[in-house]
Amino acid sequence: MLPREKSTTKSSKSATNDVAVQYVKGVGPRLGAIFESRGIGTVRDLLTFFPRAYEDRTRLKSVAELEAGVRASTAVRVLSSRKIGTRMGRSMLEARCTDDSGTLMLKWFHAPRGLEQRLIPGTPIVVTGSPKAYLGKMEIIHPEISWNKTSDVVSKEEDLNVGRVVPIYTELEGIPSRTFRKVLWEAIHKYGPTLPNDLPPQMLGKYDLPSAFEAAKEIHFPKPETDIQSLVDFKTLSHARFIYEEFFKFEYFVMQQKLGVEKQSAPAMGLEGGTKASRDLTEMLPFKLTGDQARSIAEILEDIAKPHPMNRLVQGDVGSGKTVVAFLTAAAALAEGFQATLMAPTEILAEQHYKNAIRLFGGKLRVELLTGKTTESERNRLLPRLLAGEPLLLIGTHALLEDPVQFANLGIVMIDEQHRFGVEQRRTLRGKRKSGVPHSLLLTATPIPRTLALTAYGDLSTTTIRELPPGRTPVRTEVVSGNQRGRAYEKIRSELKEGHQAYFIYPLVQDSEAEGFTSLKSAISEAEALGREVFPDYKVGLLHGQMRPDEKTDIMERFKRGELHVLVSTTVVEVGVDVPNATIMVIENAERFGLSQLHQLRGRVGRGAAQSYCFLFTHPRVGEETAHRLSVLEKTNDGFEIAEADLEIRGPGEFLGTRQSGALPFRIADLVRDKQWLLRAREDVLELLKTDPQVALPENSAFRSFLQREGREQSERLKTS
Ligand code: ADP
Ligand code: MG
Repeated sequence: MLPREKSTTKSSKSATNDVAVQYVKGVGPRLGAIFESRGIGTVRDLLTFFPRAYEDRTRLKSVAELEAGVRASTAVRVLSSRKIGTRMGRSMLEARCTDDSGTLMLKWFHAPRGLEQRLIPGTPIVVTGSPKAYLGKMEIIHPEISWNKTSDVVSKEEDLNVGRVVPIYTELEGIPSRTFRKVLWEAIHKYGPTLPNDLPPQMLGKYDLPSAFEAAKEIHFPKPETDIQSLVDFKTLSHARFIYEEFFKFEYFVMQQKLGVEKQSAPAMGLEGGTKASRDLTEMLPFKLTGDQARSIAEILEDIAKPHPMNRLVQGDVGSGKTVVAFLTAAAALAEGFQATLMAPTEILAEQHYKNAIRLFGGKLRVELLTGKTTESERNRLLPRLLAGEPLLLIGTHALLEDPVQFANLGIVMIDEQHRFGVEQRRTLRGKRKSGVPHSLLLTATPIPRTLALTAYGDLSTTTIRELPPGRTPVRTEVVSGNQRGRAYEKIRSELKEGHQAYFIYPLVQDSEAEGFTSLKSAISEAEALGREVFPDYKVGLLHGQMRPDEKTDIMERFKRGELHVLVSTTVVEVGVDVPNATIMVIENAERFGLSQLHQLRGRVGRGAAQSYCFLFTHPRVGEETAHRLSVLEKTNDGFEIAEADLEIRGPGEFLGTRQSGALPFRIADLVRDKQWLLRAREDVLELLKTDPQVALPENSAFRSFLQREGREQSERLKTS
C-alpha cells in the first residue's frame, strides 16, 4: 500500500464532498440519519447514489388515453377529495380529478401528512403512476404527484418530476424518488463541481468520457436532447464514466491482491519426485486419463513446484473426472513429504471420495477420513498424526475446519465443489498450515463465467477440463409441464424394467424454514405416492438433508447396490454422487432451480454407457420466460454455456454464494451489461501497473489521491478468496 500523505495535502476539493449529507438543503437530521444508515454519509456518497432505472415522462397522456397497467403521467385538476373509513378501521384518502377527457380517481391508503389540505378543488396537478380500471373508471393508487407550475405552490424542483426522463431510485425506507431528485438537485448544484475525478485523466481521454461532475449531473438530470433509449439502457458516456471508474478501481485492488499473493512463500515441492509419484498411481487406474486430466495434473504439479502459493481452480463438467486429478495431486505432495487435505461439502461425498481412493490405489495412497461421524477415539488417534506431520491425505467435510484439526506440514488444501463453501471457510482451511501458506486447489462443476473469474476471482488461475471420459452419451433433456408427466412416467417405467435406476429430486429451500418444511413434506409424501401409485413394482427410497448421517449413508449404499430402484431426494444428491446404473433424473418444480444447479443435478445420470434422460417437471402455470430459460438445458450440455446464461438471468450470487457476491461493491456497474467496460478497465489497470507501479507519476496523481483516501479500506473489503 502507498504511504499516507500528511492531511495538509488533502485538497479542499475532496473536503467539500466530505460534507455530511444532512447539510444538503432539504435533508436535515432525520432524513440524514436514514441516508447514513444506508451507506450515504457524505455528499459524495449522495452524488454517486445512482438511479436504478429511468422513466420517460416527456409526454403527458390525457386521462382518456390511460391504459390499465401502463405507467404514465397525466395533467389533471382536482374535483373533490375526501377521507373515507375502511373496514379495518383505517382511513383512506380519495381524490377525484379530471382533464375534461375523463375522470381519474386517486387513492392513498397511507396518505402523507398534509396531502388532504393541498388537494383543494381546482388545483392543477400532474400525477404519475400505474392506472387500474375499477368500476368502469381509471384509478391510480399512491400516485406520485407534482404540483403543477401554474399553481400557487410553484417551486422549481417540480420541473424535476414531469415533462422529462426522470431517474428512479431504489426506495430507502420509504424515501421516494422525488425526494432524491430534490436533494440531488441541491447537491449537484452546490457541490457537484468539486466532485473528485479519481481516474487518471488520460483514461478519460482515451474513451472520451466526461468529468465526474458532468457525468453525475447527466445521470441524475439528463438533458432533454439525450437519447432516451441510451438512458434507459445505461449506455450514455456519462453512465460509462462511472461504470468504468468502478471497474477500474476494483480491478486495481484485485491485481494488487494477486501481486501480494505472488510474493508470499509456500512449500516448493520437487517437480520430479511429484511427477513420478503421480505417474506411478496413474498406472494403477482402471482407465486411461483423458488428455485434459493429464494436462491439468501437469499444470498443477508445475505450480506447486514454485515457491509461491498456487491458487488454482479446476473447472470441469460433472463427470469429467476431477476427483482423480485431486488424488494424483495429493500423491505428488505426499511423495514430497507434505500433507494434503480434500474438503467436500457433504458426508456422502467425503465418504465416496475416501472409498474411491482406497479402491483405486489400495495402500499406495495413505488416506484418512474425518467427518461429523468420526468417533471420538478415532479422532484422538488421527489428530496427533496430523500434528506430527505424517504425510497423508485427509479427506473430510466441514469437520476439517474445527480448531483441534491442525497440520504440521500441510502442503496443499483442495476443496471440492468449492462454490458450496464461503470465503471464510476456504480461508480457515488454508490457515491449517502451522506457518506460511499452503497451495490451494479448488474444484468445481459450476464453471465460473469469464467475467466473474476476472473480477471476484482475479487472483485465481484456472484449469478447464472440457473432455469427458470416453463412452459417455450426452443426457437427453426434456422440459415437461406438470400435467403431462404421464408420458414421462411411461419412459421411466421402461427404463426401470431394463434394470436401470431413477432419481426424483424435490426442491428444498434451506433458507426459509416454512418453505423448506413444506417442500420436505412433499418429498416425503411423494416418495410414498410414487411407490404406491406410479411404480408399485419397484422399491422407492427416500433421502433428505434432515435424516441422520448413518441413515443417509445407508440409503445411498442401497441405491448403489441396486436394492432401491428409485431414489426420491432433495438436493443432497446434487454434488458428486456416482451411480452409473442410474439413467433417469426427474426434477420436480424445476422452475425453482438455477440452470447451473439443474445441470449439476442432471450430471448424476449419464455416467455409464447407456443413454440417459432428464425430465424437468414444471408447475403447470410457469410463465413463458421460465419455460424459455429451462429450454437452455434441452439445447446444450455445455456447462460453460449454461453458466453464462445463468449469470445473465440470475446474477452473480449463484456462483459466488451470498457472502462473496456482497463483495462485489458496484453501485452502477453490472457485470453482464457492462462486460466491455470491465475488459477495458482490466487492460488499462494492467497498463498502469506496468508503466507506473507505484502510482507516482504526475499524470496519475488523481488516482493516487484516491488510493490515499480510500485505498486501504477498499482493498480490505475486496478480499475475496
Ligand atoms: P466429477 O468431475 O464430476 O467430480 P468424478 O471425479 O466423480 O467426476 O468422475 C466421474 C466418474 O468417472 C468416476 O466414476 C471416475 O472414476 C470416472 N473417471 C474419471 N476419469 C476417468 C477416465 N479418464 N476414464 C474413465 N472414467 C473416468
Ligand atoms: Mg466431483
